[in-house]
Amino acid sequence: MNAFDLGKFEEEAQEKWTHAFESNPSDLEKCYLTVAYPYPSGAMHVGHGRTYIVPDVIARFWRMRGKQVLYPMAFHVTGAPVIGISKRIAKNDPRTIHLYRDLYKVPQNVLDEFIDPLTIVRHFASEYQRVMTACGISIDWRRRFTTVDPTYSKFIEWQWKHLFEAGHVIKGAHPVRYCTVDDNPVGDHDLLEGDKAEVIKFTLVMFQLGDAFIPTATLRPETIYGVTNLWANPNITYVRALVDGCTWIISLEAAEKLSLQDHTVEVQEKIPGRDLIDKTVSHPLCGKVPILPADFVDPDMASGLVMSVPAHAPFDYIALRDLQHTGKYTQIKPVPLIKVEGYGEIPAQDAVEKGGITHQMDSRMDSLTQEIYSAEFSKGKLFNKYGGKPVRVARDEISALMIERYASKIMYEFDTRPVVCRCGNKVKVKILHDQWFLKYSDPVWKTQVSNHLGDMVLVPPEVRLEFERTVDWLKDWACTRRVGLGTRFPWDTTQLIEPLSDSTIYMAYYTIAHKIREIDSRLLTPEVFDFIYLGKESPELPERKKLEAMRKEFLYWYPYNYRFSAKDLISNHLTFQLFHHVTIFPKDKLPLGMVVFGMGLLNGAKMSSSKGNVFLLEDAVSDFGADTVRMFLMGSAEPWQDFDWRNELVISTKKQIERFFNMVLESKDAEGEPHDIDRWLISRLQSHIDRTTDALTSFQTRQALQEAYFGIETDLKWYRRRLAKNSDGSRELHTLCSVWIRLLAPFIPFTAEHLWKELAGEGLVSFAPWPVADEKLVNNRIELAEELISRTVEDIESIRKLIQITPKSITISIAPAWKHEIFLLIAKSDDRTTVIKEIMKDDKMRRRGKETTDAAKQCTTLIHRLPPNIVESLASKPINEMAVFEAAKIFLEEEFGVPVHITEAESSEHAKAATALPFKPAIVIE
Ligand SMILES: [Zn+2]
Repeated sequence: MNAFDLGKFEEEAQEKWTHAFESNPSDLEKCYLTVAYPYPSGAMHVGHGRTYIVPDVIARFWRMRGKQVLYPMAFHVTGAPVIGISKRIAKNDPRTIHLYRDLYKVPQNVLDEFIDPLTIVRHFASEYQRVMTACGISIDWRRRFTTVDPTYSKFIEWQWKHLFEAGHVIKGAHPVRYCTVDDNPVGDHDLLEGDKAEVIKFTLVMFQLGDAFIPTATLRPETIYGVTNLWANPNITYVRALVDGCTWIISLEAAEKLSLQDHTVEVQEKIPGRDLIDKTVSHPLCGKVPILPADFVDPDMASGLVMSVPAHAPFDYIALRDLQHTGKYTQIKPVPLIKVEGYGEIPAQDAVEKGGITHQMDSRMDSLTQEIYSAEFSKGKLFNKYGGKPVRVARDEISALMIERYASKIMYEFDTRPVVCRCGNKVKVKILHDQWFLKYSDPVWKTQVSNHLGDMVLVPPEVRLEFERTVDWLKDWACTRRVGLGTRFPWDTTQLIEPLSDSTIYMAYYTIAHKIREIDSRLLTPEVFDFIYLGKESPELPERKKLEAMRKEFLYWYPYNYRFSAKDLISNHLTFQLFHHVTIFPKDKLPLGMVVFGMGLLNGAKMSSSKGNVFLLEDAVSDFGADTVRMFLMGSAEPWQDFDWRNELVISTKKQIERFFNMVLESKDAEGEPHDIDRWLISRLQSHIDRTTDALTSFQTRQALQEAYFGIETDLKWYRRRLAKNSDGSRELHTLCSVWIRLLAPFIPFTAEHLWKELAGEGLVSFAPWPVADEKLVNNRIELAEELISRTVEDIESIRKLIQITPKSITISIAPAWKHEIFLLIAKSDDRTTVIKEIMKDDKMRRRGKETTDAAKQCTTLIHRLPPNIVESLASKPINEMAVFEAAKIFLEEEFGVPVHITEAESSEHAKAATALPFKPAIVIE
């Protein structure tokens, strides 16, 4: 018995696929697809599943279309996260143990070995390969490598030599995100929270309190003239600290931060916040002002003290007003200092009152603050008594003045918080010295990337703007780390190249990965790679034959056609790789295209391994079958849209595959003679082929499935309904099955392989030729006739529901010829408003009077409702409706179980017959 058993299909296919997707240069046109390689520190979830299945569907599609397809995979093990994981496992950290033992289901004996970080990545790399294989992902596994392989390190050294020689690697001091627990800079991938936070440069304005300074951080030093008070939090603890030998009063948190930013900090004593309230401080540029209490002051934001400028800062304005409502500090008035078009004397007051904002917690406060900030920066001018300069000029001048004369310092801080490291520690800003950077700020380098970006295909097109923006704002990137796995930095071997800097041109390494490992890594000098990748000759190259073979591979496969990755990598990886490519490779080897994915949701919430909100891919495959997982992930959204995994929906996908399986088995051996309905089925099939092909060519997996699955399924259901009672269908069904299996093979390859064998198809369906539509099989007449029947059946059904009687007969009345004439005239007319006048010029038509105008109106409405392609077909050549219905009479009588009469409307005595229109006969049920 041939039962629907996805598990069995998987087993059968895996056996045949073992080496099937290994791909070598050939005479065929190549198609090289790559996807960002995974960092294997945990189990794969269904979100990862989509990342690798989308390119797989595309790879399978192009393979069937006769291209030589390469889809390789490797593992990125560079960096520190895995070291942190292994430390936490060694310490028996309950959260980590829970994640790895209970969620990722790592057996205890393997978990015990995770105290060696390399064991973790080795374990999960082979898990990844196993699960990807189980999902039917058609990878050339011979090319698998990890980023700590010695040959890969040699490749990275070569890459960096070129970056260095091009002047893109520089050394300097720089503020970076830093984890003091890991004692390492923190990359985007090392963050639990706060990946959008940027490091901002603040000026510390130093107010004097007795012998001590109170620093307040600001982005608007020019507003010093309008300071009316400081804010301190009475509920927190401040410290008196010696900072570079001077006494400062700051929050405890600030003391630690300043020590990371080139200051010597020595905490001397604690001061309760309430002790600072109502003290008077002074600054030469604003005189004496009091310190007022404010709960909103965050000790973890810069110095933990804030200067207040109520005339220009909405927050300060409201906070002061609230305090004054309690009857205190009523003598304080906002002090304006900037004139800005569009606002009154006190802009903050203006904005708050116009916005109808009554309290500090109003959600519009942030946008209001931003609005005034921008307006004053772009159009504001300081009052004449403060120098009269535009804000954009005065800001930098006053900051410089304060630093030179009034003891101000610079402090770096994040613009949003919290920023949390994977280890759970709060990330801080540290100034690193002797830090190596990739100089992404270089305008010449940026221009090279922008120019190439203009030549690339980006999918979906709307991501282009985001790429352009990223290239624009990208700043220098700290490219080395002290701790972690990876390649040693050639100019300072105490440092390692960090993960986002050693993963930019490895797509070129795949082309040679399976061959280069045959060569002793010690022989892999930069000259060797210069030869392989750039064709540069040098004397005494080792292993010449092998190098030539690798050069050939590279020349064949490169540049890659498409790189696939999630949209959150646009701001780093996907853009970085372009910077590196333009430096190292010649123009004809630069990337051709990128496809950017949306994110994965699980039951409506963002998937996140660290938060435990994931469904493991392996569980999904064993619960539902690999084909089900694939079809669900491809069918629920287009790749660039976010998708939502919901088990109940996945179950219905499995039922769809089962229906497909059963329909193919029922149909494939039919032997009847073909009739018009077969010609209809095959005619429709041609457009499903075309539309599926178009959709996959433009990466629309969902649209492709709509056509390839639902489009054909609906046709087949109608076909079966239309067959004579005792018929199983004709031998054309075999053709349909053959096409259908192939159209679905990229999506559900396991089921497709099984059915292909059932159909006695040649070889593997994975390599079978992709169906091509045959225009000669397209029959518009038959499609139109069938459309007329199915629309009439629908109409009869809905009338039957309405009238609620047991029918004794059905009469279908067909519109007279003159109505067809009207229909044609309107359908062909460019201006449907004046066409009635034209019609009335005809004597016969005019004589019918109101009958004509009514019919014209009704035809106009009908034409608007019908799909344009049907109107077009009807206009080019009307069909003989009488013949169509006569031929379908038996079918209609069987469908409805009553006699069906087909009449000319004009010979009918029934009043309703007069409503008959072309393509919409009048229906009378009695
Ligand atoms: Zn950390």
